[in-house]
Amino acid sequence: MNDILPSEIAGWQLVESVFRDLMKTYGYAEIRMPIVEMTNLFKRSIGEVTDIVEKEMYTFDDRNGDSLTLRPEGTASCVRAALQNGLLHNQIQKLWYAGPMFRHERPQKGRYRQFHQLGVEVFGLDGPDIDVELILMTARFWKLLEIDQKVELEVNSLGSNAARHAYREILVDYFSAHQDELDDDSKRRLSTNPLRILDSKNPEMQDLISAAPKLADHLDTESKQHFADLCTCLDQCGIKYRINPCLVRGLDYYNRTVFEWVSSDLGAQATVCAGGRYDGLVKQLGGRDTTAVGFALGLERLILLLNEEFLLKSAQQPHAYLIMLSPEAQLAGRVLAEQLIDQNPALRLHVHTGGGSMKSQMKRADKSQAKLALILGEDEMAAAQVTIKYLRDTERDQETIAQAELGLWLKAFIQ
Ligand code: ATP
Ligand code: MG
Repeated sequence: MNDILPSEIAGWQLVESVFRDLMKTYGYAEIRMPIVEMTNLFKRSIGEVTDIVEKEMYTFDDRNGDSLTLRPEGTASCVRAALQNGLLHNQIQKLWYAGPMFRHERPQKGRYRQFHQLGVEVFGLDGPDIDVELILMTARFWKLLEIDQKVELEVNSLGSNAARHAYREILVDYFSAHQDELDDDSKRRLSTNPLRILDSKNPEMQDLISAAPKLADHLDTESKQHFADLCTCLDQCGIKYRINPCLVRGLDYYNRTVFEWVSSDLGAQATVCAGGRYDGLVKQLGGRDTTAVGFALGLERLILLLNEEFLLKSAQQPHAYLIMLSPEAQLAGRVLAEQLIDQNPALRLHVHTGGGSMKSQMKRADKSQAKLALILGEDEMAAAQVTIKYLRDTERDQETIAQAELGLWLKAFIQ
């Protein structure tokens, strides 16, 4: 579990604010759920025999003896919240959330025990058009963050629950006939969650996996059409994708469309965003039959992909740093600074604190990345003026203006 330090925060804030604006563009509403839920919620939704529930959850008994769990993902909580608050009565909901998730995994690059997701969930729509909308908005997100060249889209269809169950039998037969070629994980999954074997990252398993029967050959007709329509629409919108027949996702509740955005820049933990349809989950958790689709993206991995130049370009440096060279100037300067902010609410003005020489204050001004130093010395105090020094544009000469005019001057400068 990591601290996110001031030196790292720029990327986080940028990604969060771009995402928030994107959600406004597409008309999605934010929802905030608690970080703990009843343990049963995750067992019933994610599935008893998934990695998450079997070995990754932070579960504890509270003082009443109720078993609670730090949420390992957002979808189950979001469905619970929507049901409990009556958001799903014959209504379409387009929701998003952001926050920390918790999984007791082996920590490594791109995999932490507290990590952060941005997630979107849509309820009440069953057509491929909404699946496409989710893919389009993620594609736009990469573009806005200037990482669209670093990610690739993979899609697949898991079909209806009935088709998937029938396929599961076929897959079990196939892998059972090759028992001796399975690694330990896959042997265990053969009886618990055989589709997950397809998702194995073990290179020694790849030949066996690519020769396995394909889910695509066992899809129901409706799901086939749904998937074909999805692909057509992606083509029309100019979104490039790869159909990956082995894409299955680790959670039990998915059906039909599944997709992942992956990046070869991330090493072993390549998936930055993953989503899909989960039409059965709402009913499974006690609601009426409600179709649903969503995705979650991992912020830590996303931030690893951001370019330095993009961050610099997007950084919001202070406009000005106020330097004051006597106790009287400190008092007058504080009053002046408040007036300047009153006049210019968008002004980013750092007021020097702690006194010190001109040299040491200039050093701090420089370090702040401010564009201007505003200097209040003895002469300026006597004449009710301020000296303005350009810290980044060193070609320009410093100038002196009346304190009473500084507010208007800054208004023009920050535009
Ligand atoms: P993976 O196996 O690639 O870690 P997953 O299938 O377990 O992913 P999901 O539950 O689909 O992950 O979560 C969606 C996204 O959240 C992932 O694609 C990834 O970006 C991020 N994520 C998941 N687990 C972690 C983790 N332990 N640390 C950091 N990010 C994570
Ligand atoms: Mg995982």
